[in-house]
Amino acid sequence: MIARLQAAGVDARDVEGGVWIGVPDRAFAQAALRALGVSAVVAGGGVQVPADAVDAVLAVCAPECLLFDLDGVLADVSQSYRAAIVAAAAAFGVTLTPAAIAAGKAEGDANNDWVLTRRLMARQGVEVSLEAVTEAFEAAYQGTDDAPGLWRTERLLVDLEWLGALGERWPLGIVTGRPRGDADRFFGETGLGALVAASVTMHEAAAKPDPAPVRLCLERLGRRRAWLVGDTPDDVRAARAAGVVPIGVVAPGDDAGETRAALEAAGAAVVLDHVRQLTEYLP
Ligand SMILES: [Mg+2]
Repeated sequence: MIARLQAAGVDARDVEGGVWIGVPDRAFAQAALRALGVSAVVAGGGVQVPADAVDAVLAVCAPECLLFDLDGVLADVSQSYRAAIVAAAAAFGVTLTPAAIAAGKAEGDANNDWVLTRRLMARQGVEVSLEAVTEAFEAAYQGTDDAPGLWRTERLLVDLEWLGALGERWPLGIVTGRPRGDADRFFGETGLGALVAASVTMHEAAAKPDPAPVRLCLERLGRRRAWLVGDTPDDVRAARAAGVVPIGVVAPGDDAGETRAALEAAGAAVVLDHVRQLTEYLP
């Protein structure tokens, strides 16, 4: 184990009962290892872990790539996808508040906005087919002859220079529940696509919280160890199930306290107020 860790540049040595790992931020390392099912105790200027925890230690201390959920993490969709949910429900006479949508996302198994919209409407006693909800949602999001699509309001939450600097150190991947066309349009409009080495979209794998899209993205990048930044419990659960370090972030417009609690309950190693804070934790 020691040889593999040291080969990856990890400060490691054998100690009685396990392995000692030197880390700059012991609390973070402990939480990140716990997220991957490894109990670590703080010892000296590092943490001590069981000798069989090598894969988790490598993921935490020496990631080979960085994965990002798109919406709420790199893309501000508070005026687009979230607004399309409100508009689709309104088309059937149902009022959905941003807080109700955020709560629905936090419940989990909510990675598909069409399904989530239908679910939230049904709770108010309005049962509509998924097809009809999807049509109303897409009319609002993509636009019609009479109204520009809400997608036009989307903005990058980071500057490309910041992301480009990360991209020079690690290949960057996107794991999103967006349809491919919506994702590629955003990549093209913002310039994000030039920095993304691989992406996985809606119909290419099962939806998060299933780990399949995370694994597929790793496969496309040709890497095994990663961190994933996401704004919902589904992101956190998908990452953990794939052995990837789960980093939470509060999306614009979401209640910070509630989001933080939901992401921590799902097992996030840390919850950021903004994705830029990622650099405070990266090795
Ligand atoms: Mg998201």
